[in-house]
Amino acid sequence: MTSNEVEYCVSCNVRLSGEGAVSFKCPSCGADMGRCGKCRQQSNAYVCKKCGFQGP
Ligand SMILES: [Zn+2]
Repeated sequence: MTSNEVEYCVSCNVRLSGEGAVSFKCPSCGADMGRCGKCRQQSNAYVCKKCGFQGP
């Protein structure tokens, strides 16, 4: 376990409660990101804070 747990959705910045939330790695740089269930369902866009990669 790292001390760098993902706490906020990378799309809407809501605090992740664990309900449907997922964590994934940036396809570009491998940074850990989190996403809430809502944004995941809607495939909302995100930008990696580390490298600027835009997804999904
Ligand atoms: Zn990245």
